Amino acid sequence: MTADNGTDRATAASGPAAPTPTPAPPSGPSNGPQGNNPSGAGSSDRVTEPPAYPKPKLRVEIRDLNHEGADVFLGAVNLSAVMQQAVGNVQHLLYGRNAWYADPATHIPPTRSVTLVLRDMDGVAYTTGSELDNDHKEIHFSLRYIAGIKPRKERATAEIAGVLTHELVHCYQWDGRGTCPGGLVEGIADWVRLRCALSPPHWKREPAAIGRWDGGYQHTAYFLDYLERRFGDGTVRRINEKLRLDHYDGKTFWPGLLGHSVEKLWEDYVDAVKNERPEASSVSASEMS
Ligand SMILES: [Zn+2]
Repeated sequence: MTADNGTDRATAASGPAAPTPTPAPPSGPSNGPQGNNPSGAGSSDRVTEPPAYPKPKLRVEIRDLNHEGADVFLGAVNLSAVMQQAVGNVQHLLYGRNAWYADPATHIPPTRSVTLVLRDMDGVAYTTGSELDNDHKEIHFSLRYIAGIKPRKERATAEIAGVLTHELVHCYQWDGRGTCPGGLVEGIADWVRLRCALSPPHWKREPAAIGRWDGGYQHTAYFLDYLERRFGDGTVRRINEKLRLDHYDGKTFWPGLLGHSVEKLWEDYVDAVKNERPEASSVSASEMS
């Protein structure tokens, strides 16, 4: 179970961030869009066609329709659209060759269903496997938290989409068979949220050596964003894929993947932020493809 407490995600008064739309699939004659598995077995297209993203069964359970948070939630988002878009963005950023097809070098976990449970509880949200089977995930999202989003009119839509995106990462990410540091697990979740232009207004890249690389949430998310810029698109995807294959060992994990210790990479990051080098600048929504 991955719990996300509320202290790191208190909302602040500022402008909303727009969710990143998933582009329409290409209309090429041979390669079908996602989800299309041509029945023409033996065709040569079949051999070269990359794997499409799986579509999990999405469910919702609103435990108290009389709760103010239920009213805010249903008024702020198109439930079906926000869930589908968040799943698409997570799959794209962690496993995508592009917006339509998975990268054959990655392996998406066999998540078969995601049930969103809206209920009155402390904190913000958490994700867990269902009692039945770990391939069936449950996202519990606090109606009390949703009711308290301020300013409601400006922030509710983006904050709900942001929290759902973060939790959906937990439904799809690898964790070194349970050995990955919690800060990296949470950092990857917030990196996806950051790349979807759904970061809350109070998030900011730290100006100096504040914190640690595995401080989690946005602290680690901005560090991962730096690594993505420095080592190229797909770096976080490679980190996630390595967490599928290996148990996490900090001494070998980073040198094996990026050629340096994580301490050196963090030093470089702090230096880049201090000196405002381009690789330490923030991502913008327009960069998401
Ligand atoms: Zn989390």
